[in-house]
Amino acid sequence: MANHNPQNPGDKASLRFRFAPSPNGWLHLGHAYSALFTQRAARAAGAELLLRIEDIDQTRSRPEFSNGIREDMDWLGIHFAPDVRIQSNHFADYEKALDQLADLGILYTCAATRKQIDAEISTRKNPDNWPRDPDGSPLYPGIWRDRSDDNYARLMKSGVPVAIRLDMTKAVALLKTRNAFPLTFEEQGIGPDGQTGQVQLDPQIWGDVVLARKDTPTSYHLSVVVDDADQGITHITRGQDLFFATAIHRLLQILLDFPEPVYCHHRLIRAGDDRKLSKSAMDASLKSLRQSGTSADEVRHMLGFDRPD
Ligand code: GLU
Repeated sequence: MANHNPQNPGDKASLRFRFAPSPNGWLHLGHAYSALFTQRAARAAGAELLLRIEDIDQTRSRPEFSNGIREDMDWLGIHFAPDVRIQSNHFADYEKALDQLADLGILYTCAATRKQIDAEISTRKNPDNWPRDPDGSPLYPGIWRDRSDDNYARLMKSGVPVAIRLDMTKAVALLKTRNAFPLTFEEQGIGPDGQTGQVQLDPQIWGDVVLARKDTPTSYHLSVVVDDADQGITHITRGQDLFFATAIHRLLQILLDFPEPVYCHHRLIRAGDDRKLSKSAMDASLKSLRQSGTSADEVRHMLGFDRPD
């Protein structure tokens, strides 16, 4: 990875990389690959390596999984700067960012359930060909987009759980007024279709994304952008499954006046049947590999990281 950094060109000491796992299951080989990849890239750049525990999902996150992350990283010989960021300590920071976006007039509340969204789509012309986002979910059909403030006040009073969505059309219009559309970013790794170098992505492929969920007052997209800015992250290394999400992240960075990091997406480690590894599919955890006698060296070798840098 080159040392170029749009934030502080040439200033090596201020380069920062991060590994940002979610403590909602045991880490598997895919996470080990991502952490080792990040460690190698950070070392090559002479950068600091930070850990962030992404635990906004308070129902799925568990302390034993957070501890497991630390144990797995120690075992693999990956050491982080002492200041570990725990997302659940930062809900106030996400709320502040949400307020900033609300002031731009590009957010709205949405009380629709998944069932209501599906039902709405089924009433549209050609529902079987309804557009889907890069993760395969149908685009939000806009049920709550243009409802009045009265509606909002009534909802808030009634205590019905609401999500907060970004009005993508308004957000893109705002980007255009700031000469920031089309959106671009610097990809120093490789996207799923070979994308590299200056990449252009259209955030509209995601529709009106949720920025605060019904069950937690933020979302992956909002928290990750706030945290990367707060932690001064200059290089974001992560799996290709998050490549297209970069469009939303760049959009939020621009609207919140955050600096632009460099991105480096890497290949995904696949299971024997070519699926993406997952915690929920019970793919072998690092913990179980360790307990059954696999060494950290063997894991590094398996993943192609044998040479100590
Ligand atoms: N927490 C995310 C995950 O475990 C990674 C977030 C990121 O690297 O942007 O998949």
